[in-house]
Amino acid sequence: MNETEMKDKQFVWHPFTQMKDWVSRPQMVISAAQGIKLIDTDGNEFYDGVSSLWVNIHGHRKAEIDQAIVEQLGKVAHTTMLGLANIPASQLAEQLVAVAPPGLTKVFYSDDGSTAVEVALKMAFQYWQHKGKTGKQKFIALEQAYHGDTVGTVSVGGIDLFHRVFKPLLFTPVHIPAPSCYHCRLSSDQAVCGMQCVTVLEQVLAEHHEEIAGMVIEPLVQAAAGMLMSPPGYLAKIRELTRKYDVLLIVDEVATGFGRTGKMFACEHEQVSPDMMTLSKGITGGYLPLAATLTTQAIYDAFLGDYADKKTFYHGHSYTGNPLACAAALANLKIFREERVIEGLAAKIAAAAAKLEQIGKLAHAGDVRQCGLIVGIELMQDKDRKAPYPWEQAVGARVCLQARKYGLIIRPIGDVVIFMPPLASTVKEIEEMLDIIHRSIQEVT
Ligand code: PLP
Repeated sequence: MNETEMKDKQFVWHPFTQMKDWVSRPQMVISAAQGIKLIDTDGNEFYDGVSSLWVNIHGHRKAEIDQAIVEQLGKVAHTTMLGLANIPASQLAEQLVAVAPPGLTKVFYSDDGSTAVEVALKMAFQYWQHKGKTGKQKFIALEQAYHGDTVGTVSVGGIDLFHRVFKPLLFTPVHIPAPSCYHCRLSSDQAVCGMQCVTVLEQVLAEHHEEIAGMVIEPLVQAAAGMLMSPPGYLAKIRELTRKYDVLLIVDEVATGFGRTGKMFACEHEQVSPDMMTLSKGITGGYLPLAATLTTQAIYDAFLGDYADKKTFYHGHSYTGNPLACAAALANLKIFREERVIEGLAAKIAAAAAKLEQIGKLAHAGDVRQCGLIVGIELMQDKDRKAPYPWEQAVGARVCLQARKYGLIIRPIGDVVIFMPPLASTVKEIEEMLDIIHRSIQEVT
């Protein structure tokens, strides 16, 4: 065990980790990275197959982002946005508005995906108070939703394993069925999607809209639920209904934003303009923590008033609008433009689809889901009966450990093998990574 591993095991508590297991097993220490590869302390190289938890876009040590951060360091690393403006934060806000769906004109910064959603929830709540519709206090969320780990975002979360223990601490949203066709329990004929999940939403809205402030949704892909994907047209339908019933639509693009789905934002696939959009993860190309909650002029205007009116949005963090992170984000967007990143994705997505077709034929590949460069392969003990493996067999985790032997780092969600490579991966690299996944599933299941 090297010194870092020793110190880690003695002093560090890891996120989403059973520490009893962690300290009892050898662990890998990453000491460097280059492009889409991570390098451990023994000099071994591994593909970063989950983009360092879905954040990395253009690879590691991307010269332009490194440079932008260094240049900003020569000016100022951090200054507060309470009572002061800073150059990168104002430039970035303009550029985010320019690439966002139409109608989103204002940017509120925070630090990570959870805080971006927390801001949206509080903003939506306060908005209705200002509009005089004080009864609108509840939120609609999806079953299986994941929007972060703060108390507000856990409240609108729907993953039992993560969220149940906190229930007494939380506010209660109205949960509606997840729009996941593979797991659909609403349709009697799974071959025909009648979008019954939308019907359920319409009933809830018709009955309760006067109490509902907003609906929060992960567009197209419920990521932490295991890359559950909604049927085409679902998001547009949600927009139509939330507008009809005067409920704010908060689209959480923390995982799907910045090219992941093949377009800059998932909303674009269905020409949806939400009332609020939350961004983080890929916003800095995966370099530094930063998040943004984008909203409309109408919502912003509802917070305007004299100081004595107390309409201010009393929310902020020490590092809100951090100049280093904003400089990284500006460099990130510049690379998107100059390297025509979005235009280059179609070939990579098609290459992944071809390999996934082969993986789908494996005896235990129950459902293979792909949206752009977001992939979830759900393993089943009995594919025909959709019978999962016993939890304690940890099949998903074992597949991911096997993949490490062949030089690929991926992480499972239960028995869903997740693959989310940096957008900078070449077609050949994507094919190589998926070949490793194919082989690892074959060997473990
Ligand atoms: N929203 C979505 C859709 C996410 O996938 C995540 C994280 O995975 C979050 C919010 C929370 O982001 P963070 O982990 O940066 O707080």
